[in-house]
Amino acid sequence: MSVGWDTAVAGWEGFAPLAGDVAADACVVGLGASGLAAIEAFLDRGLSVVGVDADRVAAGAAGRNGGFLLGGPAPAFHRAVERWGPAAVDLYRDTLGELDRLYALLGPSVIRRVGSIRLAGLPGGPADEAEAADREAEVADCAAQAAALREHGIAVEEYNGPLGVGLYLPDDAATNPVVRATGLAARLGRRTPLHEHTPVRSVGGGAVVTERGVIRARFVVVAVDGRLERIVPALRPHVRTARLQMLSSAPISSHRLPCPVYARWGYDYAQQLPDGRLYVGGGRDRFLDEEWTHDADPTEAVQHHIEDVARRMAGGAVRVEHRWAASVGWTPDDRPLCARVEVGVVAIGGYNGTGNLVGPVTARAAVEYLLDGKTPPAWANALDMAAG
Ligand SMILES: Cc1cc2nc3c(=O)[nH]c(=O)nc-3n(C[C@H](O)[C@H](O)[C@H](O)COP(=O)(O)OP(=O)(O)OC[C@H]3O[C@@H](n4cnc5c(N)ncnc54)[C@H](O)[C@@H]3O)c2cc1C
Repeated sequence: MSVGWDTAVAGWEGFAPLAGDVAADACVVGLGASGLAAIEAFLDRGLSVVGVDADRVAAGAAGRNGGFLLGGPAPAFHRAVERWGPAAVDLYRDTLGELDRLYALLGPSVIRRVGSIRLAGLPGGPADEAEAADREAEVADCAAQAAALREHGIAVEEYNGPLGVGLYLPDDAATNPVVRATGLAARLGRRTPLHEHTPVRSVGGGAVVTERGVIRARFVVVAVDGRLERIVPALRPHVRTARLQMLSSAPISSHRLPCPVYARWGYDYAQQLPDGRLYVGGGRDRFLDEEWTHDADPTEAVQHHIEDVARRMAGGAVRVEHRWAASVGWTPDDRPLCARVEVGVVAIGGYNGTGNLVGPVTARAAVEYLLDGKTPPAWANALDMAAG
């Protein structure tokens, strides 16, 4: 398995593993985009922090995803408003704020503010009557989403172009997720110790026990999306691990996708980089049972589906260069977890496949939960296991 995005960071030098016991005000477990946001938030509050990862920066989903930076929650905005009320609007605004922050830090070469397209159905004519009916239903759903966004003053336009019909959301953006994470880690690594290749065995009682030493810290954020229930078994009823898969292609001749495109109710998605390569994923709804797994290797059946998505997104044949998969956390009510596991320890994760901005926003809420005792916003599941 090789990850298409990684070619852009082949020269990443990384951080040395922890070498023995240390103490700090705070410790963050997991150097994905969410963990990095928690580290930044602690540092901005003047605390000393140690960050650790079992592997390298963004070795998990944070470096293996579609690179869509979308405003709002995992469910489509109108559905989230129906279910969560004003909290859905708050999360939308918070995620767009996180995007502004990222753009200011990393600039237009890493954060491409090109918007996104939600397409009703896949590009090209429907293959059969069932696909035609599904597309018609999705056109109506796009209209409902647009109405809700407009009602709350969020930018949206109708899309009607070479790919089909749907919505264009001008506030969204695209990134290479590994470049984004390593860019942030390199900046933070100049301010505080970060350690790769330092697996954590246990967290609790003011100590983070790793295979390389013990970190004593008053405040701990566990920022692990997929397989969170492994490191915090008490969260097992509240989060479940799923596998998501992708591939990337050789450059195609046309500049087909002007921005990230998610199609067929968001289940299939693709972005095209300026070099012409397509990064394509999807099919989770078609392989639900098989994809509830901690395994993170790509499978033939899902890859076959994604190749078909790639062909339709490309409008012709594609040559696959890389295939990969990663683990993400799913929650029963689609809200991310921001759980106080014990006094001084908050675990975050369970972004339901859309953690690129929701994860960092949840991480900032976790730091406020720990430092100020501020209950996380209603868009998160602020489980309090320390309360008994
Ligand atoms: C194929 C795919 C496509 C996706 N597409 C998108 C998208 O386009 N847009 C979007 O918003 N979201 C997308 N997602 C979801 C998104 O990638 C994740 O929600 C997000 O990246 C989670 O980041 P994180 O930092 O919270 O956690 P993770 O990326 O899971 O990072 C956790 C880190 O913790 C480390 N770790 C784990 N266990 C331990 C331990 N015991 N000790 C120390 N370290 C440990 C891991 O090595 C890892 O680096 C996608 C996910 C996948 C898999």
